[in-house]
Amino acid sequence: MKLYQTDQDVLNFSSRIKSVSEEKDGVLITLKNTYFYPEGGGQPADQGTINGYEVLDVFADDEEIYHKLASFSGLTINMPVECTISKERRNDHSIQHTAQHVLTAVLKDSFGIETVSFHMGRAYSTIDTDVEVKEEIILQTEKAVNDFIGEDLPVSAYYRDKWNLGDIPLRKDVQVDSNIRIVQIGKIDWCGCGGTHVRSLKEMRLFKITAVEKYKGGSRIYYMAGDRAFHYISEMEETVSLLKKELEVNLDELPFRVRSLVQERDDYRKQTAVLMNQLAEAIAETYQDDVVVEETPHDDELIRSIGSHMVNKGKIAVFYRPDGRIFVFTGKKADAKEIIKKAREEFRFRGGGGATLQQGVIELPEEISPFISKIYESLLRLEI
Ligand SMILES: [Zn+2]
Repeated sequence: MKLYQTDQDVLNFSSRIKSVSEEKDGVLITLKNTYFYPEGGGQPADQGTINGYEVLDVFADDEEIYHKLASFSGLTINMPVECTISKERRNDHSIQHTAQHVLTAVLKDSFGIETVSFHMGRAYSTIDTDVEVKEEIILQTEKAVNDFIGEDLPVSAYYRDKWNLGDIPLRKDVQVDSNIRIVQIGKIDWCGCGGTHVRSLKEMRLFKITAVEKYKGGSRIYYMAGDRAFHYISEMEETVSLLKKELEVNLDELPFRVRSLVQERDDYRKQTAVLMNQLAEAIAETYQDDVVVEETPHDDELIRSIGSHMVNKGKIAVFYRPDGRIFVFTGKKADAKEIIKKAREEFRFRGGGGATLQQGVIELPEEISPFISKIYESLLRLEI
């Protein structure tokens, strides 16, 4: 039995150093007794200090618990040490972990959905389910978890051996036969678990599912509880307030306003595309020669549109901008790669394309003019 399991309220304790071993990036320490929680079962490790030195990580290996410190000096075997576990981090982990038990219980007992894995992260926690969870189930699940918080169900932990489990309805089979640690929540959940938990559900205060996505044939559910959930809701509130102010609407009008703005934007995009095409065609019409080499102020999209209109009329066009952007439109009249070949050999040109269009950038401004001259020479040799 681990001390963090039998007495999880102990966050300050005295101990003695059992072993010290130096690693590449720090030092590993074992203690005669420790209340630190080592990473495991989806729950991250505790943090804190040992004689003032920061504990970066805690992990278990073969029944031994290792504490990783970034640095130390003067820590020797058998030396007495004072240890402190970060209360805020432990409480937060206990809250998120207990929330997972309740979430898993509600999904299974109300909807027959199994939890296949659990992960607790710095910002949010997730569970993965065996089947996809529909939106209406998510809403009902979130409400059910919060209802259990409202009922303030007690959470207890006790030990049993496999032969005297009696009628305890363990949610999942356990790997060990003796000293099975059972974590019970009210009359809704019995689970073999070695993690830390709250004493009663009121400590969770609030539960919020923040996102659901498809994952490996099931769903990945992101959730938060306790302070994390309050912070999340405050941030949402702030964002919504900004949007309400910006769009000058009430909360209930917000979705409709956003939808109509998106519709308006799509309509404008369509109109703009039609007008841009007409503009490109009109600009292309202004060129009388069959081969055009010219500096242009237009953006890439308009240049491409003008070029395609010119190619359609059987013309060759080379457009370049003062920022070094260059387009060579040849259509089927010539091989754009050939036209640009000589120029590329002499100057630094980043780009490429096919036989009908080459595009790219001349990196040095002073090379634009000689680069264009080289292209011009190639065009003259075409004898069009
Ligand atoms: Zn647990």
